[in-house]
Amino acid sequence: MTLDTSRELQVGGVTIAPGETRQIEIPVAKLFDYTEMTVPVEVIRGKEEGPVLFVSAAIHGDEINGVETIKRLLAKKKILAKIKGTLIAVPIVNVFGFNRNIRYLPDRRDLNRCFPGSDLGSLAGQLAHIFMREVVTKCTHGIDLHTAAIHRNNLPQIRACLDDAETRRLAMAFGVPVVIDSNIRDGSLRQAAADNGIPMLLFEGGEALRYEERVINSSLRGILAVMKAIGMIEGKGVSLSQQKKEAFVAKSSYWVRAPHSGSLRANKQLGARVKTNELLGVMSDPFGGGRVDVRAKNTGIIIGIATLPLVSSGDALFHIATFDDAREVEDRVEVFDGFLDN
Ligand SMILES: [Zn+2]
Repeated sequence: MTLDTSRELQVGGVTIAPGETRQIEIPVAKLFDYTEMTVPVEVIRGKEEGPVLFVSAAIHGDEINGVETIKRLLAKKKILAKIKGTLIAVPIVNVFGFNRNIRYLPDRRDLNRCFPGSDLGSLAGQLAHIFMREVVTKCTHGIDLHTAAIHRNNLPQIRACLDDAETRRLAMAFGVPVVIDSNIRDGSLRQAAADNGIPMLLFEGGEALRYEERVINSSLRGILAVMKAIGMIEGKGVSLSQQKKEAFVAKSSYWVRAPHSGSLRANKQLGARVKTNELLGVMSDPFGGGRVDVRAKNTGIIIGIATLPLVSSGDALFHIATFDDAREVEDRVEVFDGFLDN
């Protein structure tokens, strides 16, 4: 996408001149008691022209790892003082859900199914529309940070539409071992960005309602690596060793669901390689009887896992990505974990 980055940049009605940093509150709908709700945004515009990158988090209000990631990104003052182009940081998009520790909006809608939204739509649609108008459409690139939904945990991974060459380049630069190629038409921000010709990555990692160091480190390094790849920063003094090797692109992924209701004892952890028909866990009744094995359908890597052991029939238990060479991916995941634990 080409955007004339030399033109006037306005976010939420505030003009940001080259070399300026501004914190802006973008008004959205009020609460019942007329309390003003705003989406907080920080815009850092370099003196030199360059890409315009948005980094957003908490589109799902309880997915808060990314909020901390953005805070740490904004603390990199020395690096950001020299950026080419503009960084638009939006740590909390769904301010309604965030304040209630929930994924959704007060109208019970999932914001990431309501893009591009409309100014006359539902509350979620209006928020989506405002975010598109004030942030996304002013950018040349984007990164949106997520975690697993409540009671699940995700291996750090990138989801992106790799058919687009620039998106693929960003996905590989981000540096997590696992990349899921997905091109879905689901009303997500990712779809709306793609429809506007803006290459965008979705980062998934960790659990809802947690701050997890390994996930925060992983996403922070990934963002800096992407900023380097698109020419916003030079990368001096930034350790990007996470991206030493090429990421593995999953061929596909599938869910293993609970064969019936009960409690689950999982035998496998996040990041583990599993073979076709391998035992993943055992379900049983309250006396330990009525045992039912839960097995993998195909060889792959566990990229998502249920953390609540009490499950209903049909609940998603294990999300498994399949690769050309799952063994190699597992080795990388281990290296990656070891690196992050340092
Ligand atoms: Zn999410």
